[in-house]
Amino acid sequence: MSKLKSEIPGIKKKTTLQEEARMRAVEHINNNYSNHIQIYTDGAKNHNGSAAAMWCRHHNYAESKKLRDATSIFQAELNGIEMAVQHIDDHSPGSKFVIITDSQAAIVTLRNLQRGRVIPIPLIRTYESLEARWTSGIDIILQWCPSHVQVDGNERADRASVFSGQGPDN
Ligand SMILES: [Zn+2]
Repeated sequence: MSKLKSEIPGIKKKTTLQEEARMRAVEHINNNYSNHIQIYTDGAKNHNGSAAAMWCRHHNYAESKKLRDATSIFQAELNGIEMAVQHIDDHSPGSKFVIITDSQAAIVTLRNLQRGRVIPIPLIRTYESLEARWTSGIDIILQWCPSHVQVDGNERADRASVFSGQGPDN
């Protein structure tokens, strides 16, 4: 069973209406991850710069980090996922975790990595922090969820990343 889930049944990224996507996403998360600790992540890039963020539902805790201006949105999303993976260490080891990202590209790219092959540089840190915890037996799933359809945790991570991308005078 793959731990990298880039889809939710019934949701097509471009064509599913917002309200239906929200319903299906919430239902999918409730049905599959009610016994998991849910950590939402996001990456942002706008005229204020780049940032990554995570929000842990269990702790109701948001964390964000400003990134170098040149950081791509893809790299920012990966940074958010890595922050979530690091945050897992603050939980008791017996728990099950789901990291919920709105970056389908991040999940697909991680899933396409092949064992024994060279890992592309942008993926190294995220992949290695995940792999290290999988190897030590920690149950972590990565799940895609659509953005901008008012899924609560996704909105919280989104707000945290936007806030962090802003300069001090904003
Ligand atoms: Zn937490």
